[in-house]
Amino acid sequence: MLESGSHRSELSQGRAHTMNTSFSEKFFERSKRVSPGGVHSPVRAFKGVGGVPRFIEKAQGVCLTDVDGNSYTDFCLSWGPLILGHQDPEVLAAVEQALHKGWTYGTVEPLSLELAELITSSLPWVEKIRFVNSGTEAVMAALRVARAATGRDLILKFDGCYHGHCDSMLVRAGSGLAEMAAPDSAGVSRAVAGESLVVSLNHLAALDQIFAQRGKEIAAVIVEPVPANNGLLTQKPEFFEKLSQLTKSHGVLLIFDEVITGFRVGFGGMAERTGIRPDLVTYGKIIGGGFPVGAYGGRADLMDLVAPQGPVYQAGTLSANPIAMTAGLATLKKLKREMPYQKLEEKTERMSCAIEKAVLRQTDLKFHIQRNASIFWPVFGSEEVREISQIPAIQKEMYARVFHSLLDQGIYLAPSGFEVSFLSTAHEDQHLDSLVQAFQGVFS
Ligand SMILES: *Cc1c(COP(=O)(O)O)cnc(C)c1O
Repeated sequence: MLESGSHRSELSQGRAHTMNTSFSEKFFERSKRVSPGGVHSPVRAFKGVGGVPRFIEKAQGVCLTDVDGNSYTDFCLSWGPLILGHQDPEVLAAVEQALHKGWTYGTVEPLSLELAELITSSLPWVEKIRFVNSGTEAVMAALRVARAATGRDLILKFDGCYHGHCDSMLVRAGSGLAEMAAPDSAGVSRAVAGESLVVSLNHLAALDQIFAQRGKEIAAVIVEPVPANNGLLTQKPEFFEKLSQLTKSHGVLLIFDEVITGFRVGFGGMAERTGIRPDLVTYGKIIGGGFPVGAYGGRADLMDLVAPQGPVYQAGTLSANPIAMTAGLATLKKLKREMPYQKLEEKTERMSCAIEKAVLRQTDLKFHIQRNASIFWPVFGSEEVREISQIPAIQKEMYARVFHSLLDQGIYLAPSGFEVSFLSTAHEDQHLDSLVQAFQGVFS
């Protein structure tokens, strides 16, 4: 683990570290006394980049302000949900109004109906939908439905894809039996891990092989259609064609985990962009407009297996919370009306090219930015990364140094070399220029 401060040397040499972070430091010390690692979700602790995580007091547009009064242009955007930036005026107005009507009823209400109708009428592969409180919950429920529908127990996932923290997904490739998974977290039983199969991304032959061996035992394949939780791992179109074909021919359900990509790479996410129709799909992040919402949906015959219609139990005290539904609805309505996707993609492309140029002009480091729509990932290597094993060995250390130099210059990227960053509609040219200039500043 990098020591706090050590990575600030060298690259940003000559430019004094001017930010005062004394309140963040104090808060972090206090936090560590009362919460594990001082955080409520691991990456927030800055372990991957070292240093003290900044306690944020407020945010507006693309600007984060910390408790010491420092401000940062935000490219992390709460890990993806804020495609409209912080406090989008339309979302804010809707939420403010909704609050005065009450914030949870524990009954049926019209807001979730409206959001469900908006989604099912726009995305043909979502015939029915159920709202939950997080992406993790959505995945957990979708897997349960898949097992119920097929009467099979095995789930196949890919090494390099993240699907939240439910037990059966916290697994990695095991060393024993071919592709049999091993727990990837303490507290996950071998029995549960043993019901998952893990295959490396980008290995079509391995996929053929495992389907030939175990195809009839697999309930579902779950995949991030743009793997964006271990860097941004670019997949070839053949990969998805192969998946679609193998799942169909073996009676296996195909689950697209679109928690990041849904409403991000296009309104219809990757199901729309690939033209592949998943049997089930999971959403999160943008769907709640920055409030805690997840959803799973898909074929009506599968969704009708869910209680009270069918035998698959799944429930939630605060599910379809009216404030969260309101934020999701306001966000999705604005996205559907403005369709900002092409513009976002062009901006990301232009910015990435400018950063690459700025870096390569000044150093002989190998460097490029992998991108997909408005998701981007700086990589300290020159080859396209398609699977975890191709991530350059120096990624963690180099990213940590660059991250801190950028942070000192008022830029907030995702605080880990294995996490992606995002653009929002609130980023204007001046903000993108400031990132390009900050990258220039790192190496000058
Ligand atoms: C973020 C994410 C999850 C987990 O969602 P939470 O809301 O954090 O539980 C699952 N799958 C993917 C692809 C994600 O990006």
